[in-house]
Amino acid sequence: MKLQFLGTGGFHPNERRHTACVWLPEIGVALDAGSSLFRLPSRLQTTELQFFLSHAHLDHICGLTYLLAPLLQKTIARCRVYAQPQVLAAVEEHLFCPLVFPVRPPVELVELPHQVDVPGGQVTWFPLHHPGGSTGYRIDFAEGRSLAYISDTTANVDSIPFLQGVDLLIHECNYPDSLSNWCEPTGHSHTTQVAHIAAAANVGRLYLTHFDPQLSGDDPIGLDTARHIFPETYLAEDLLEVRI
Ligand SMILES: [Zn+2]
Ligand SMILES: [Zn+2]
Repeated sequence: MKLQFLGTGGFHPNERRHTACVWLPEIGVALDAGSSLFRLPSRLQTTELQFFLSHAHLDHICGLTYLLAPLLQKTIARCRVYAQPQVLAAVEEHLFCPLVFPVRPPVELVELPHQVDVPGGQVTWFPLHHPGGSTGYRIDFAEGRSLAYISDTTANVDSIPFLQGVDLLIHECNYPDSLSNWCEPTGHSHTTQVAHIAAAANVGRLYLTHFDPQLSGDDPIGLDTARHIFPETYLAEDLLEVRI
């Protein structure tokens, strides 16, 4: 199955990265809805979409408003957005407030049940450590492959059982180790922490994403440091496509 990183930055876009969205075009599933969502309509392969939101910070939800045009034009026939109740309430009351965005996009906001069926697989979730809370997702496909998406969070050993043996782990890594003192106050992760989590959970490959937008170079977080701990570590880039 094809997976595209539509946006790999955190907080705000920069010249290189838009904010969070991981897109599975063949099954119409998206993880988060940041500023990179403007890239989604030209990459539709289905008319029904399912979104899974980690939390309601703007870099993960602002792109829901960009769905208005394809929904009104019927290139998207149905769009369900799954999240925790407080996240859905924030989207409805604030993002879709008429003073903020004048026409409510006709999406269905759905409280996240214990698990959700998607074409060919099932989505389960796990609570993360982040100001206001956040939700990590895992998708297990019927033919045996799996992926997990963990953003935003302070990397924590609590997540290891949930991530155990996943083929592809996508984990936020907002900071390099040299800025690790920022992790606790902001609720984010740094390189060494995340690599240790991937190694302990015995995942197949680790893709790091959600980089601090002030770090705009080729290697914002020190890839060699991560590979020393977990060799199968890669940096996600906007529009990078991988196979699960
Ligand atoms: Zn974020
Ligand atoms: Zn956040």
